[in-house]
Amino acid sequence: MKDLILEMEHYASQNNVPIIELDSIKFIMKYIKLNKVKTILEIGTAIGYSAILMANANSFCEITTIEKDEKRYREAVKNVNKSGLDKRIEVVYNDALDVNLAGCKYDVIFIDAAKGQYIKYFEKFSNYLNKGGVIITDNLKFHGLVKNKDLVKSKNVMGIVNKIEKYIEYLKTNKEYITKFYDIGDGLSVSFKRNEQRVNID
Ligand code: SAH
Ligand code: MG
Repeated sequence: MKDLILEMEHYASQNNVPIIELDSIKFIMKYIKLNKVKTILEIGTAIGYSAILMANANSFCEITTIEKDEKRYREAVKNVNKSGLDKRIEVVYNDALDVNLAGCKYDVIFIDAAKGQYIKYFEKFSNYLNKGGVIITDNLKFHGLVKNKDLVKSKNVMGIVNKIEKYIEYLKTNKEYITKFYDIGDGLSVSFKRNEQRVNID
């Protein structure tokens, strides 16, 4: 398993695949372990790096992970098969906004796909959250650019930064969910329904 993880890290750096930072995945794995998480939905598989690590946090959690890029999807399936976790990780090749998950509920929903669509993902997938579950979002700092907009050179990047800012505002003002923000890795948030927090996350 260690070799596969290193191999994936190498592939990601060679191919510019934005995999999760170490501190962030450690935080999520700890949450999965402490809360005996059974079901996870991940939006944005890339090559399966975070999915495989989350599946390693305990021996029983089951993960559905969605990826819309064909090359990355194929790479993820290959890695999941190599990891021997194919019974617990299902990789879905589709745009997350087109996927129908009717009847499914998840203890953890991990949002890690297109940064400009975070509000859309939250609105759609919060319907699939189990009682007591959490929605975790990655990359809220967007490499520090959210705090330092002066550093942003391109219009495209500024568009994403503005959308992340809107998402943070959306979470802060959401009446149904309480969100805690963590200065870990590239910035993480953990949202849970009011009055439903199960275990301390710190
Ligand atoms: N979670 C991964 C990294 C994901 S990178 C890890 O930490 O290992 C974000 C991925 O989301 C990219 O591979 C991108 O192709 C995918 N993506 C972006 N928008 C998407 C959408 N609407 N539906 C599904 N996947 C999407
Ligand atoms: Mg990320």
